[in-house]
Amino acid sequence: MNGAHNGVLYVVPTPIGNLEDITLRALRVLRETPVIACEDTRVTSGLLRHFEIPHKRLISYFAGNEAARVAQIVAIILSGEDVALVSDAGTPGISDPGTRLIAAAIEAGIRVVPLPGPTALATAVTASGLPTDAVAFEGFLPHKKGRRTAIAKLVAEERTIVFYESPHRIVKTLRELADVLGEDRPAAICRELTKLYEEINRSTLGALHADYSGRAAIKGEFVLVVRGAAKAEKKRGDKYSRSEPEEDADDGE
Ligand code: SAM
Repeated sequence: MNGAHNGVLYVVPTPIGNLEDITLRALRVLRETPVIACEDTRVTSGLLRHFEIPHKRLISYFAGNEAARVAQIVAIILSGEDVALVSDAGTPGISDPGTRLIAAAIEAGIRVVPLPGPTALATAVTASGLPTDAVAFEGFLPHKKGRRTAIAKLVAEERTIVFYESPHRIVKTLRELADVLGEDRPAAICRELTKLYEEINRSTLGALHADYSGRAAIKGEFVLVVRGAAKAEKKRGDKYSRSEPEEDADDGE
C-alpha cells in the first residue's frame, strides 16, 4: 500500500525528436513536480527551458550511477516529495535505466503514475506496416556475449520483432539477421523518427543490408522492425535450433 505521506513517482515520456510531441499532461506534471530524475541534466534542462518550465531540482540518473541513485530517489519520495522520471528521449523504462527505479519504487510501496507518450517502439511499429497484433520487443541485441544465441532464438518467432540499434552496428545487425532469418524476410528501418531527416525504408533484410552497407556515412537513431516467421520458417527454425549447441538448454523440445 502507498503510505499516505509518500510522494508519487511520475513516469513522464518526452519527445523522441519533434518537441511538438510532448503531451499537455507531461508539461503540467513537469511544471508541478519539485524533483526530476533524468539521464543527462543538460538534455532535460534544455527541454525545460524550451517549454519555459521554471528551474527544478534535477537528479542525474543514468546507466553508470543508477545503482547508487535508486536508493536516494526512493528515499526522497518516501519523505513525501513527488519525483518525475524522464529519459533523454521517449518513455522511461523502455530500454533505458528507468526500469530499475520504477521496480524499486513499486517494491517500496510507492505509487507509480505512468503517463502515455512518445516512444520509438510504438512509433516504429505502426510506421513499419508490418502486423501489429503481436509484437516481440528485443530492444538492443547483446553486442558480444549471447548475441548469436539471441538471434538464433528468433528464427521461429512468429510475432513482428522490434530492435533498437545504433548507427555503428546497424549494418552488422542487418547482415546477421539476414543470414539467420533469411534475405527475403520483410523488414523496415525507421531512422530519425519525428526528426528533420526521418527515413522509413520498408523492404527485406537482404535489400536493406545492401542499401545501408553501400552508404558512405550512417548517422542517426534506428529502430529495425522485422516481420515474424511464416509457418514454413518456423519448421526451419526448429531445425536450426537443434543444430545450434548454444541453443540446447533453451530448446525445451
Ligand atoms: N526510452 C526510449 C523510447 O521510449 O523509445 C528509448 C531509449 S534507448 C536508450 C534509445 C534508442 O531508441 C536509440 O538507440 C534508437 O534505437 C531508439 N530511438 C530513440 N529515438 C529514436 C528516433 N527518433 N528514431 C529512431 N529510433 C529512435
